[in-house]
Amino acid sequence: MIKHLSLLCVFVFWGATSAGAQEAVQQTLITNVHVFDGANEQRIENANVLIEGNLIAAVSTHPITAEGATLIDGGGSTLIPGLIDAHWHTLYCCNPQSVVVTGDILEVAVRGAIGSEKTLMRGFTSVRDVGGNSFAIKRMIDKREIDGPRILPSGPPVTQTGGHFDYRPYQAVPSNAADSKWYWYSVGLMAQADGVPEVTKTSREIMRMGASQLKIAGGGGVSSTYDPLDVRQFTKAEIEAFVEVADTYNTYVASHIFTDEATRIAVEAGVKSIEHGFLMSRETMELMRDNDVWLSVQPLLDDEDGFTFNDPESQRKWIEVTDGTDRTYTTAKEVGVKVAFGTDILFDPALAERQGAFLAKLKRWYEPFEVLKMATSGNAELLALAGPRHPYRAGPLGVIKEGAYADLILVDGNPLEDIDLVASPHENFDLIMKDGVIYKNTLSLN
Ligand SMILES: [Zn+2]
Repeated sequence: MIKHLSLLCVFVFWGATSAGAQEAVQQTLITNVHVFDGANEQRIENANVLIEGNLIAAVSTHPITAEGATLIDGGGSTLIPGLIDAHWHTLYCCNPQSVVVTGDILEVAVRGAIGSEKTLMRGFTSVRDVGGNSFAIKRMIDKREIDGPRILPSGPPVTQTGGHFDYRPYQAVPSNAADSKWYWYSVGLMAQADGVPEVTKTSREIMRMGASQLKIAGGGGVSSTYDPLDVRQFTKAEIEAFVEVADTYNTYVASHIFTDEATRIAVEAGVKSIEHGFLMSRETMELMRDNDVWLSVQPLLDDEDGFTFNDPESQRKWIEVTDGTDRTYTTAKEVGVKVAFGTDILFDPALAERQGAFLAKLKRWYEPFEVLKMATSGNAELLALAGPRHPYRAGPLGVIKEGAYADLILVDGNPLEDIDLVASPHENFDLIMKDGVIYKNTLSLN
């Protein structure tokens, strides 16, 4: 794959220089496509799209002339914005749980990097990383040293003692000040803070690492040991401290929560993105809607892609949570709360290959247009809450229009009629471009 890609890069570069434009911006002209622009249901039929550098320069139904541009005949396929996963874990996704629990950070990082290239090759050109130490991988992707999606990192997700990201061994408490930090805390895979001063300091440390937003656990989790689902995590004062630090950095806090009371307190404290929310009532969703808070929920079902946990208690919690999935989507749609799409695939590289299939599962509740809009311009709107901490601010993400980032997928068929096309990206995505660079192309270049 690497060899193939470098050949393409050379070819594209040659295309730009052959016109004698030594310093000219690299251009690619995609002709003969129907454009889903990320926002409107009607495709722009028989369009041409010009890419200059890493941005879209023109979208037109009239012919575009661009001398020296690399030409791609789209063959009447549908051009859509690159997909966005709003709840992704660059490191947890693609490492078996045994490695995360007992391994070392180098293995976790290498597997995360391998997983990142695969994420991009599934058409996910941007992810909001909601926990883990993805900073190095992000930097190397941005420098094009390795392949992968754009990453908006949250850095280590923060837990209270005994909270969702406290995976320490049972014997770790009582702790005392002389204890060395737990390995996963010291390498930034997770973080722990108790009390307002620790929360404030930890939040600043995470922002110092380069986080785009903060991620905390505000309630019980499925895969964790010490926190039944009903448990609220962090006091309101602690959550307000997270929000205050995020606010000083002009960004926001996302919180892992399933239940009502924990969500209510989080919303009152200023949290802007509730992750999961499967056990939430209509009234709580209305509260979120009225406070402009996002529901970042995943189509997790106890189906062929369902997780299996070694711990029977985690398995019981999994069933309780996934029983709420259908009701959550149905109610969220009725209430009109902003819903983001994410997968939250954990500890399973094979399941990560199903990322597009997870998106297609939304057809149970949404029309194909709604699904595609959610995973493109909709998710981009959530990512934009990071404000100046958003690493990619040269243009909008998730849309195809002049000035937007050239993150594009050419789909063989019309996903607005058949959303299942996104479930099999290796078969159905003929072209994958990110930041104006072609990463996959099964069509001929001219
Ligand atoms: Zn998660």
